[in-house]
Formats: sequence, structure tokens, C-alpha cells
Amino acid sequence: MSHAPALSKQPVNDKRQSMPVSTTEAVQDKRSKINFFAPFINRFELQDILNTRNHSADFIETRAEYIAVRVRFMAFFYAIAIQLWIPVDYLLLRPDHFSSMIIPKLLLTTFLLPLGLLTLRKLTSNQVHLIFMLTILSAGMFYFASMQILNQGGAEPLLAGYSFMPLMIVSMLGIIPLTLAWGVSLISMVIVIYLVLKASLGQLMTVDTANMLWVLFILGSISLWVQSSQLLMLMKLYREATRDPLTGLINRRVLMKRLSLEMGLTNDAGSSFCILMFDLDRFKRINDNYGHLIGDQVLKTTSEILQAGLREHDIVARFGGEEFVAVLTGCRYEEAIAVAERIRASCHETQVLTSNGDSIQFSTSVGVTEYEAGETIEVTLNRVDESLYKAKELGRNCVIHNQSDGFSRK
Ligand code: GH3
Ligand code: MG
Ligand code: MG
Repeated sequence: MSHAPALSKQPVNDKRQSMPVSTTEAVQDKRSKINFFAPFINRFELQDILNTRNHSADFIETRAEYIAVRVRFMAFFYAIAIQLWIPVDYLLLRPDHFSSMIIPKLLLTTFLLPLGLLTLRKLTSNQVHLIFMLTILSAGMFYFASMQILNQGGAEPLLAGYSFMPLMIVSMLGIIPLTLAWGVSLISMVIVIYLVLKASLGQLMTVDTANMLWVLFILGSISLWVQSSQLLMLMKLYREATRDPLTGLINRRVLMKRLSLEMGLTNDAGSSFCILMFDLDRFKRINDNYGHLIGDQVLKTTSEILQAGLREHDIVARFGGEEFVAVLTGCRYEEAIAVAERIRASCHETQVLTSNGDSIQFSTSVGVTEYEAGETIEVTLNRVDESLYKAKELGRNCVIHNQSDGFSRK
């Protein structure tokens, strides 16, 4: 395991904690000036809606939960609506067509209901996307089968409900906050099904087909626009709900979520993680002596030191006012203690400059502990909190580690 030098002032990697979901606003503002689409969307927003490469793990999970709810709605909607359509078919379709349609309808419902029910379970983002894709594919296949049936022995004159299905599917995709990569793939899939159908019916080179393709293209573009807007809106709300506005770090709520994920991984895979808890020393004095703005500056500097001193996959959060928590994943206890000591030393050596030229020194006390398999996260947090308390008792500006076998000072 290699940790970056504790006090490098490197810009923070895009996927890091300080980024609101994936990018910093400061960088966004600067970069938007060189983007051709700048008046509409900045370059980073464009990257965020293209694919999930820059999305944080929490956001991927949150979006998947959001998509699952909508896919459930879609699957149940198609499964039920197609059965409710039976009386209409009975009135409008030729008897032979009516009876031939029963099997594809039953198949669609029997396929979609379990898919919809599956979304009620705890799923990974990939599983949610797979279910989503199968839902759209089954609606597309149903459309293909129904149009084949309804075109047997001369086309039905009253086909609107079925012949408009591709348009309905493409429009409905607008309710999902999809990346462009997914949106374009799904809309292309619907268009391909439509083209294969038309080719199999010998109607590929007709004005009607060209007309429908045009409408599909327009509706598809609008749907992509709505999907991307939903994705950006979800990102913005997520960012506001999960990030500390001062430092850009994740807040306590997200930290607890990440910790329970880490705990699950550790208990399943036998890996390990360590928790570092920081509390700035005599911070109230800094506020009292120099004012809150300088206090804020010290908090920001601390968050930069923490991020520079941790690896990309470590987690760092603002836990409370002047308290921070770092979670070092897959890290051994001794290594975590060394990292804590490096960060403590960096804080102590760093000077924060005020507008009138004063330089302020600050320090932090640190508690360290390692998660012990099987225990609850509250027990681990309690232990690290006790170490921090001990560090304060022992005079501050020091690292105290604490395992079940007792305290030690670095
Ligand atoms: P100790 O060494 O025992 O931790 O002493 P302390 O002064 O750091 O601890 P105390 O809990 O008494 O004070 C914490 C202070 O942190 C009080 C509060 O005003 C300040 N604080 C909390 N959040 C913020 C913030 O966002 N900005 C600023 N400037 N100050 C903050
Ligand atoms: Mg405190
Ligand atoms: Mg303090």
C-alpha cells in the first residue's frame, strides 16, 4: 500500500471525496469556457451524462435505487395494461387475430411481473440495468410478435395501440435518469427491432416506415434530453444532500452508509479496514482569535491535507464541526497508525495565512482503530472516539490507537 506524501498540494483526483459527485464547481467553471456547448452544458456535466465513469460509488448506488422504482412501474404498467387491452382487442380485431394475440400477451405478462417483483429486492446497479434492459427488450419483442400476427392475411385497419408501441417505449424512457450511453443503446435497440420487423414484412422502403423513423428519431432525441436532465438534476440534489458545502467532503450520513458497506465486505471477504478520527485542537480559540472565516479556512486546509494523505479508494468525511473521519480500506493497523501520524504532523507543520499576513498554526488529535470482524460499526466508532478522547487527555496533537487489548500512543 502506498500513501501519497502527507502534504502535497496536488489537485484532487476527479473521483475523490471533495468532488461534488464527480467534479468540483471551480474546475467546472474554468473548463466550461473552452467547451463548444458551454452556453447549454459544461464539459464536466457532459462527461457526467455520457457514462458512469466519473460517478462516485454512492451515486451509482443511489441512482440504481431510483431507476429500480421506475423500472418496477414500467414492468407492472406493461404487464397489466396489455391484459386490460383485451376488451378493446375483442371489439376491434378480427377473431383469428384476437385469438392469436392471447399467447404473446400472456407471455409478456408472465415475463414482466417477475421482473417487476425482482426490483423489490436489494440489487446492484448492474442487476438493475439488466432488468431494465430485459423489460424494454420484452416490450420490443412483444411489439414484433404482435405486428407479425396482425399483419397476417392483410393488415388490421385499427392497429394504433400496437403500431405506436415503439413511440410509447421511447417516450417512456424519459422517466429514467439514464446516461447517454444507456439511453442511446436502448433507443437504438427499439429502432433496430422496428427495422427488422419492417424488413420481415417487406415494408422497409415505404413512406410510412420513413415517416415513423423520423418520428422515432425526434421522440428519441427528446427522450434523451429528458433523461439527461433528470440525471443532472438527480446529481445536483444528491450532491446537496450528501456533501459538506465548506469542504466538499461527504457528510456523516453518507459515511455511515459507506461504513456499513465496508463492514459487509470485511465480514464476507475477510479483508479489513481502519478508522481514523480527527478533532482539531482548541479550534474554538482559532475562531475566537481570528474569526469564523479563518476558522473555515483551517477546516478547508485540513480537508485538503486529509485527501492528499490518503489513497483514492479511502473514504474521508466531515463528521461534525471540526471533526473528520477517514476510513482506510484494505489497510493494516500499523499502516493506519503511520498514516495518522503523517497527517497529524502535516497539520502541525502547515501554516494558514490570514489577509493581514498573520500565519496561523493548528493541530489535530487523532484516534485510530481497526474494525474487528463481527462487531457492529457503533462499537468500532465508540472505540475510535475513546482513543480521540484519550489523545485530548494526554495533551492533544498526538495519535492514540485503541484495539480491544487497550490504548497505545504513537
Ligand atoms: P478541543 O481541543 O477540546 O477539541 O477544543 P475545541 O475548541 O476544538 O472544541 P470545542 O468543541 O469547544 O469547539 C469546537 C468549535 O468548532 C466550536 C464551533 O464554533 C467550531 N465550529 C464548528 N463548526 C464550524 C465551522 O463550520 N466553521 C467554523 N469556523 N467553526 C466551526
Ligand atoms: Mg470536537
Ligand atoms: Mg476540537
